[in-house]
Amino acid sequence: MSKRDYYDVLGVGKDASKDELKKAYRKLARKYHPDVNKEADSADKFKEAKEAYEVLSDEQKRAQYDQFGHAGAQGQGFGGFGGGAQDFGGFGDIFDMFFGGGGRRRDPNAPQQGADLQYTMVLDFEEAIFGKETDISIPKEENCDTCNGSGAKPGTKTKTCSHCNGSGQLNTEQNTPFGRVVNRRVCHHCNGSGKIIPEKCNTCGGTGKVKKQKNIHIDIPAGIDEGQQIRVSGKGEPGVNGGPAGDLYVVVQIKPHEFFEREGDHIYCELPITFTQAALGDEIEVPTVHGKVMLKIPAGTQTGKVFRLKGKGAPNVRGYGQGDQHIKVRIVTPKKLTDRQKELLREFNEIGGNEATDEQDGSFFQRFKKAFKSE
Ligand SMILES: [Zn+2]
Ligand SMILES: [Zn+2]
Repeated sequence: MSKRDYYDVLGVGKDASKDELKKAYRKLARKYHPDVNKEADSADKFKEAKEAYEVLSDEQKRAQYDQFGHAGAQGQGFGGFGGGAQDFGGFGDIFDMFFGGGGRRRDPNAPQQGADLQYTMVLDFEEAIFGKETDISIPKEENCDTCNGSGAKPGTKTKTCSHCNGSGQLNTEQNTPFGRVVNRRVCHHCNGSGKIIPEKCNTCGGTGKVKKQKNIHIDIPAGIDEGQQIRVSGKGEPGVNGGPAGDLYVVVQIKPHEFFEREGDHIYCELPITFTQAALGDEIEVPTVHGKVMLKIPAGTQTGKVFRLKGKGAPNVRGYGQGDQHIKVRIVTPKKLTDRQKELLREFNEIGGNEATDEQDGSFFQRFKKAFKSE
């Protein structure tokens, strides 16, 4: 089930103003409201219009949708690989906290975001083109259920470290010839946590975390390409001291295909044909990822000629159209000929088959021949 473009749903252009959006939505809402319209699919159409309007009328969601398509509007974003400074879309505050701070704060009691996780997903050529919904199972740190993440045995409490007063750091002062120098070190009594656990939780050994195998649902958008990544918000490691969880990045790798190659939204392949097919023309069944298609080879086709099957490529992952399939024809010269075939070809040659008759190529062949005769 592919979702329709929100702008198409509302029947407005990509640059529609807020007023235009509102008008378009009201019109559709009146038309499809289930109280008014008794057609079977009116409720779905109403819901579709409502969803489109909800996203496009919200500036932030709209920007995200424009950039990432439906995946962006659903709380997933994706961008090119390795771009730390990129806007992954709309989760501003969490991201500012993560990227903006220039290093983590030292205060061990301050909320900290959990670590991000990365998962590499290998997809078949077709899966990347059509998208895929799947569950992945990854080992993830979770807060320990027994102690609720505190690390203390149930019924006991953690104490503030008396050596550092909960700061996790110890200051030592030293007098040097240049003046007094204050050294800050991690408190070795509490290992910088600011807390002492008198009785440790048996389940997690006092860390407050346990590794668990977790199932996470991943929606791979159709048209995703090699190296692109999907960000699943909040599915990384849990945060510390009530901080938000990290994010999960699913990096996509695509298995090579036997016949097809992909470049962006376009698919490329080579089609071997015989020289009689090329000379006389033919109609050939060719594979596409969308099923077989009849391709007309016109008489007199040259090797290297590229035919384009419009719309038979991959859908654009941002929802902008569909790529094409490009088929490059390669004329295969027969290696083994029967006596009869040789006889026919010799006859073909004798009645003028050795002359390149094509106007353009003819002149090229003549120039070619002349160039070698003159030496
Ligand atoms: Zn301490
Ligand atoms: Zn525990």
